[in-house]
Amino acid sequence: MLILEGKAVCGGIVEGRLELYAGKPLQSRERSYLENPAVVEETGAVFDSNVELELYKQAKAEAIRQLEALYQKALTEAGETEAAIFAAHQLLVEDPNYEAVVYDQITKRQRRAAEAVQIAGEMIAEAFASMKDDYIRARAADIQDVTGRLLGLLLEKTDNRQKKRMSQAEGGVKGETAEQEISQEKVILLAEDFTPSETLQLDKSRIAAFVTRRGSENSHTAILARTLGIPAVVGLCCGECCDGLERWAGFPAIVDGGTGRIYIEPDAKTKAALQERFAKEVQRKQGLQALKGKENRTLSGQTIKLYANIGSVEDAEEALEQDAGGIGLFRSEFLYLGESDPGEERQFQAYRTVVERLAEGNRPVVIRTLDIGADKQADYFGLEPEENPAMGYRAIRICLEHPDLFHVQLRAIYRASQYGVVRILLPMITSLEEVQEAKRQIETVKRELSEEGIPYGEVRLGLMIETPAAALISDRLAQEADFFSIGTNDLIQYTLAVDRQNPRLGRFYQPYHEGVLRLIRLVIKNAHEAGRPVGICGELAADLSLTEEWLRLGVDELSVAPSMILPVRERIRECW
Ligand code: PEP
Ligand code: MG
Repeated sequence: MLILEGKAVCGGIVEGRLELYAGKPLQSRERSYLENPAVVEETGAVFDSNVELELYKQAKAEAIRQLEALYQKALTEAGETEAAIFAAHQLLVEDPNYEAVVYDQITKRQRRAAEAVQIAGEMIAEAFASMKDDYIRARAADIQDVTGRLLGLLLEKTDNRQKKRMSQAEGGVKGETAEQEISQEKVILLAEDFTPSETLQLDKSRIAAFVTRRGSENSHTAILARTLGIPAVVGLCCGECCDGLERWAGFPAIVDGGTGRIYIEPDAKTKAALQERFAKEVQRKQGLQALKGKENRTLSGQTIKLYANIGSVEDAEEALEQDAGGIGLFRSEFLYLGESDPGEERQFQAYRTVVERLAEGNRPVVIRTLDIGADKQADYFGLEPEENPAMGYRAIRICLEHPDLFHVQLRAIYRASQYGVVRILLPMITSLEEVQEAKRQIETVKRELSEEGIPYGEVRLGLMIETPAAALISDRLAQEADFFSIGTNDLIQYTLAVDRQNPRLGRFYQPYHEGVLRLIRLVIKNAHEAGRPVGICGELAADLSLTEEWLRLGVDELSVAPSMILPVRERIRECW
């Protein structure tokens, strides 16, 4: 048994077979495998170009099968335009130039299949990236994507060969029997890191948990895992114990998302102990069910609204299942993180579905306008890489500079507003002028819809208070808006000058820092003096050690991941 420890991101104890994440552009995982002679050595195989060519052919055939299946799935679930990318990737896998480089590397330079694929990917991606034509340049990312897929498959094959040898050494059939048993289970995905868009595309029906070697618990990937309820551990120890982690692909493991521990090939005693904890967790969850339909009321009678954070239509179902009083934060940018721009119509349909589902009981839906940039990237936006992306071109800054983009989203939101209670929330506000400019654009959209005879409802305007500047001028901002929502994730990042994406800064990301708490108190005071309600939608809203403090300060609303609704309700009901 090997025990690894990382940062706990989303609780839950799950068992599964470890699988390397295949659909990723080249990252250090593949590089470290190739550069680490100890790992290559352990494969134990003497170089044989025929074996390597055969491995490559098998990986190529499997990649084509996977892409064909993805194409068919996208075609039925999303349409021709969305599916096209998978057809394009199939063509790249079959590209004769790519294949020629791979063959050359294996036969003439005696490189193993994985290394040959990596070199081919890099050479062709570089050639594409240097072209003048924008379209061809953009294909460099596709080449990396396809190469990542092939590499993942090749590494898996190497791991399986190694595992087979090990089981033969241990006396044959035992390992194979184990493999048959575990193949029935879901998988635990092992990756270097995930971007938010990759996290969104994970197939939840197949994936029990994910584990990443890098990553921070404050990133959007971590937030997404919590929203989706996928047990996850990030930022595994980067010491020697993690070298050659790929060798464990195919092995059974248990992930404890609550403690951040991964038990590879757990022994019977460990399994029994985890099983006992698991049973207790199930019992606790069952106990929480009794709180559905109950009020968020303290023992002294104070009430607070308890809403859910979502990123998709499916999350809204989960929010309802968990008895959320509304949607306090719809991270609309997640609709943009797929393969293509969702445009007005697709957005409208998504918002309308959520709004209609929540309309029963007059539950509000707070839609945050596009908060793209920094770690949330979509290739088709073509945002230029930045030196300091967290402080960079993101959120409202992009929307104000691209009124066309903002306009489309505002139209979709306003059109959906006739089906229930809709509110707009502007992210990353730092000045009054930004709010005033956004309001002018909102007026233009309203005028346009009226001229077109399209009905819309009354939409209140809220501001995310997630920069120190916004907190400090919240008295002035309160005159321009109907409500505030405090984004503690970014507020901590910007107040403490700690990049929330950077795992090395974990200990400096201090949610309870007096500087942060003073700003939060100031915002609540300023909002209330102006007669505006104020909520918290960052992760601190779900921090049970702060629930009492939020109540004491008179926060009007907490918005949390769907899975945290009932635990927070339980805590509220214990408070005086
Ligand atoms: C926040 O910053 O607290 C917030 C809710 O926004 P996000 O986490 O999406 O940046
Ligand atoms: Mg934020």
